Amino acid sequence: MAAPRGSLWESVFDNGVDSPPLAADATVVQAYLDATRSLIAKRAPLTAFLFIFFVGNGSLLEWWYYADRRETLLAVCTAELALLAGHMILARYRPARIWPATVLVYVALAICMSTYFAASHGSAEMLAIGLSLALGGTGVMFPWGALGQGLYGLGSLIAYVGALGGGATSQLTMMHDVFALIAAASITALGAHVLDRHRWLVFRNGAELQRANARQRQETAISNALLNLTQALNNSLRDPQATAEQLNEQTRSALGLDWAITVLLDAQRQVYRTVAVSGPYHEVFDEVRTLEVASGTFPLHQAVQREGLVEITDRERQDLLPRGLMERWHARTMLAAPIARADRVVGVLMGGHVETGEDGSGSAPRHASFTDTQRRLLKSFAQQAAVALENAQLMEAAREASRIKSEFVATVSHELRTPLNVILGYTDLLVEHALGALSPEQHEALLRVRLRSLHLLDLIQDILDVNRIESGRVPVTIEEFPVAEVLQSVSTNLPAAWRKPEVQLDFGAPHGHLVLRSDRAKVEMIVRNLVHNALKYTERGTVSVSVASRPAARALEFVVRDTGTGIAQEELPRIFDMFHQVNGSARLLENGGVGLGLYIVRRLIDALGGTIAVHSEVGRGSQFTVSLPLEPTPVVALREATQ
Ligand code: ADP
Repeated sequence: MAAPRGSLWESVFDNGVDSPPLAADATVVQAYLDATRSLIAKRAPLTAFLFIFFVGNGSLLEWWYYADRRETLLAVCTAELALLAGHMILARYRPARIWPATVLVYVALAICMSTYFAASHGSAEMLAIGLSLALGGTGVMFPWGALGQGLYGLGSLIAYVGALGGGATSQLTMMHDVFALIAAASITALGAHVLDRHRWLVFRNGAELQRANARQRQETAISNALLNLTQALNNSLRDPQATAEQLNEQTRSALGLDWAITVLLDAQRQVYRTVAVSGPYHEVFDEVRTLEVASGTFPLHQAVQREGLVEITDRERQDLLPRGLMERWHARTMLAAPIARADRVVGVLMGGHVETGEDGSGSAPRHASFTDTQRRLLKSFAQQAAVALENAQLMEAAREASRIKSEFVATVSHELRTPLNVILGYTDLLVEHALGALSPEQHEALLRVRLRSLHLLDLIQDILDVNRIESGRVPVTIEEFPVAEVLQSVSTNLPAAWRKPEVQLDFGAPHGHLVLRSDRAKVEMIVRNLVHNALKYTERGTVSVSVASRPAARALEFVVRDTGTGIAQEELPRIFDMFHQVNGSARLLENGGVGLGLYIVRRLIDALGGTIAVHSEVGRGSQFTVSLPLEPTPVVALREATQ
């Protein structure tokens, strides 16, 4: 009958501990029963001691006051001692049987006590008191629950009734004594039950907590391993082979395996190939590495595709991997997970344990199967692997495409430059009348051809420069040089076509005392490009270049000023972008250039660890200020800056 909630009856089972309903988890129940048995076994000696102490003292009184009972007393005490010794031996050597053994031994002790009182015609009340005390003692000492205590109580009662029948003398009615004994048995059984419930609850909650902690530790271990893997894979992302090797090694160490192999599908040849292998027995590595299996005939591939995670716990009873190879590899067990892209298996990540024997001949496998954490980790690693390997391959493909593009651009630009120089050479000859007289119209037309050809040459030069920078082929070379030499070089190498009759070009006073440690060629290119722009966008007035030292900032400033068209404020943030031109392509026809000059300038300045600022006013002119560090402390190699 179900007890009403909150009733008096229910309160007997209420432990005062707020807890969810008791879950009957078989493993926890089993562990609880084991713990109970071991506790009973552990308490057997102490209980025996208490029994001997109290019953022994009682016996001494009997011995003292009733000399005629001594013989019986001696026999009973010997039997009791033998029983207690037997109980302790059982507790030591047969703890699994301790529960029924304890009930039997203590019922037997009750029978001994009853036998003594019956044989000596002793007081039944004394016997009842003795049995009740013993019941109280076991209720406290043995966590055997209501059943254990109840059986012992019943046994005591029967023994007591037997004693009455056998000759024990009672001062009161028999019912008085029986009632007292029933009361003692019931109350102690109830106490044992409450204790048992409480122990179970504490035990179950403890087990739950342990399990939660273990889960938490597992989750932490898995996230740490994944984090390590991600970091390792990120570091090797530029190289698919290095990525595969990292993945393989991380799998082996994170899962605590002896060996690991990564197999990938070679899409072109439709074969599965080993791309990474790690573990002991290096002599087999080459064999494993050269292993190739046609994609349709690889049983492991089909198995992981079907089941997700595949396990070999005994190499003799499997046909997923060549048995001979596993033997030579000393591999005893294997766990494999698919590396899948969009539901298509493109590889297998696997690992396992080797045999325990030093020489590989050991019989028992160190780990017959894998833990839940290992399974989860391998699955997660394989998922990460798919993404990482794909990224690495994409990066390699992108790098390859970029390399081909760079080569293409470089080749085409070079090929264009050669005939263009020929065109310019002949145009110059024609313009200078070296090949005969020209009409004014012809002269005018040839001048235009010449101008456009020069623009085209600049454009090709810009494209070549950008191409070199983008492909990282412009290393930074640091040297010490006088700034004046740079300005001198820019000034003398300025193509005549850039100059304009109404624009005065001023390179300022000689800066003989200023010395810079930087990349000379790049500094020259920066100044030259800025001067070129200033000349391009100035019809009349001045273009000036000045240099100033900024000791506080440990920098040198190049300032290129012009009195040209100026740039609208809203355009300023974008003029350094690649291919960005103010007013779009209209400028191309007018001035040449495609919007690469300032982009090149900014990339070079970045590589030298400098900065550039621009102030401009439409109709009044512009000022570009380049600040370069005196010492190239954080000089970033252009290769790095461009990647
Ligand atoms: P472009 O090859 O068109 O000159 P740049 O990258 O050198 O390309 O410059 C980008 C844009 O910035 C130019 O189209 C031009 O409109 C503007 N610009 C650059 N320098 C100046 C300057 N000194 N005066 C006016 N406008 C300039």
